[in-house]
Amino acid sequence: MTTNKQTKPQKMLYIPYMCDHVYILGAALAAHNIPNEILPTTTDDTRSVGLDLCKGRECSPCLTTTGDLICHARRPDFDPAQSILMMPTAMGSCRFGQYHVLQQSILEQHGLGEVELFSPTAANSYQGFGERPTQLRQLIWQGSVAVDLLQKLLHEYRPYEMNAGQTDQIYQQCLDRVVDSIKAQGGKHLIETMQWIAEQFESLSVDRSTRRPIIGLVGEIYLRFNTYSNQNIIRKVEAAGGEVMIASMMEWFYYTNWNFKSKSRTTGAYKDFVVTFLTDIYQRHVEHTILKPVEHLLTSPHESPVGQLMDNIRPYYHPDLSSEAVLSMGKAIDFAQHGLNGIINIMPFSCMPGIITAGMASRLREDLGQIPWLDIIYDTQGATNINTRLEAFIYQALQFQRQKSRHQHSVA
Ligand code: SF4
Repeated sequence: MTTNKQTKPQKMLYIPYMCDHVYILGAALAAHNIPNEILPTTTDDTRSVGLDLCKGRECSPCLTTTGDLICHARRPDFDPAQSILMMPTAMGSCRFGQYHVLQQSILEQHGLGEVELFSPTAANSYQGFGERPTQLRQLIWQGSVAVDLLQKLLHEYRPYEMNAGQTDQIYQQCLDRVVDSIKAQGGKHLIETMQWIAEQFESLSVDRSTRRPIIGLVGEIYLRFNTYSNQNIIRKVEAAGGEVMIASMMEWFYYTNWNFKSKSRTTGAYKDFVVTFLTDIYQRHVEHTILKPVEHLLTSPHESPVGQLMDNIRPYYHPDLSSEAVLSMGKAIDFAQHGLNGIINIMPFSCMPGIITAGMASRLREDLGQIPWLDIIYDTQGATNINTRLEAFIYQALQFQRQKSRHQHSVA
């Protein structure tokens, strides 16, 4: 049976790997005595199982997560009676809300109907998760902020490292420390961990004498963070001569708060509105506290408020139309306003919010000085001619960067 009950899972909870933030979820659940295991990353084999089982009209994240979950459920040591599979969901027009429905039906068709599918939902901003939901949610938030910041550091340092591979090594060590701090210490020493992380990045040898064009990466959240599905887009941009700034995971949670507040106000659910309002304030406070030790190392350390991103897009598209399109467009404008030199919008094949964003791009670019913009559509065939397109795009971004710098000098 599919459930949105938000109760504490009593059995072993298996969570598909989406990105490194998932290790925080696993660590926080473990700290709350909820047994869980993060599934291995998607492989060509698990993806092909997903392709076989789905109908062919699904978005690629549905295909890959279905493959991951079903391959695990088919293992000889898998005990359906003692297992829960996790597949988050959301309300609204997007197909994400249907993933767990399809996956439940596939489980039933394959004699695994006994397995419970646990689906925390973005519709209520993931409230009420676990037995001590508030504490669990706070812990997940703290760890997620730390991983977002760690990834910002990774992306700002790796393109300029003097010893190849050193930044990745440090990133992995820091990630392990953050996960340990959440799991073994319930987040108590996270600030000390962030101070230690700052020291590791300060010790890195980098050469920033030539600044690369900075590219803002927006688009569908699973694809943005899942390196298997996006064919390692960030490394490819770096190899082509760019530096990447990615729309963070935090932003998605702030957006679900914003959305839930807006809907609560419209429907007169004032208690929900107040709770989410206070949650938002708490999350901002935590973000600033965890950021402090590493703030001096980042070019653009603060997250722009989601309200600001929504205001950005109001002249083009109404934020109440919802979906990830509003976030992608709002963030693309935000990136341009922060002086970035190009935007990459990535989307799974036939992604509705991605197509809306791509369709609005020329209109946005008109008002953003014709900032270079690249839409990349990923199907599950593994070929998007990325390298050639990226080389041309990074060249345009470089020209854009030079033009801006010439303009600034002539004004000065
Ligand atoms: S955002 Fe796009 S890819 Fe993700 S579920 Fe919605 S339509 Fe599919």
